[in-house]
Amino acid sequence: MNDIIKQYVIEKEPYYRPVADEVELYEATYAVRMPMMLKGPTGCGKTRFVEHMAWKLNKPLITVACNEDMTASDLVGRFLLDASGTRWQDGPLAIAARHGAICYLDEVVEARQDTTVVIHPLTDARRVLPLEKKGELIQAHPDFQLVISYNPGYQSLMKDLKQSTKQRFGALDFNYPNHEIETEIVTHETGVSGEVASKLVSIAERARNLKGHGLDEGISTRMLIYAGSLIATGVNPHAACRVALVRPITDDPDMRDALDAAVTTFF
Ligand code: ADP
Repeated sequence: MNDIIKQYVIEKEPYYRPVADEVELYEATYAVRMPMMLKGPTGCGKTRFVEHMAWKLNKPLITVACNEDMTASDLVGRFLLDASGTRWQDGPLAIAARHGAICYLDEVVEARQDTTVVIHPLTDARRVLPLEKKGELIQAHPDFQLVISYNPGYQSLMKDLKQSTKQRFGALDFNYPNHEIETEIVTHETGVSGEVASKLVSIAERARNLKGHGLDEGISTRMLIYAGSLIATGVNPHAACRVALVRPITDDPDMRDALDAAVTTFF
């Protein structure tokens, strides 16, 4: 493994609590290098899962947070001007394909469609990445795998992956784990007691029931971890929940009242 790619190797095991058979299934998809789509709401463990899997498979992981300003060149690479003239610099997707990493495109739907199509030739039997500006065709390294994340809740007709893109991937569904498992995760990540973690999870469950009834997204596991971390440092639970759980997700005064009431029920 060369120096360029070594920096992407994950040395220490990222903690991941399996929820179902996703670890075994992912290993099977990696064995056949199937491009994968991790579907689920934000903050439910998709990124942590792929980090854990890259570590377990001992493969470097290159993560790209996608956004609407991203161009194909941001993924593939570009010519740069320096003192000695122009030189080509591989983008993250090209580095992953050339050197054999798992490339994780987080929230790929945020990227414009002309950007997403650059992944097409990498996701079929050809496994190639054309660097048009450079006039090079990269044949993907045998270890290369493409993984994307996708939040089904966010999509509108205007902003969705094209069927021709979706059908190139296998998919694993992610969701917030059940009460016991989520409590275990919050305890592990924050150091709060199981009792406090369980209360935080109960508040999140209330909020998740309000999704679609005034809330766009429920309280995520990530948010519970923020709240738990504050409580672990000695912040009063009411204040911690207000800051980490309630205020970020809604500006609606009635909804804030409803969520604050849920906090008072449990703390
Ligand atoms: P996503 O990529 O789905 O937006 P993340 O993977 O960043 O979400 O998850 C947010 C946080 O929740 C992680 O940093 C991790 O602490 C925690 N988490 C969620 N699910 C799990 C899990 N199954 N095992 C361990 N940690 C988890």
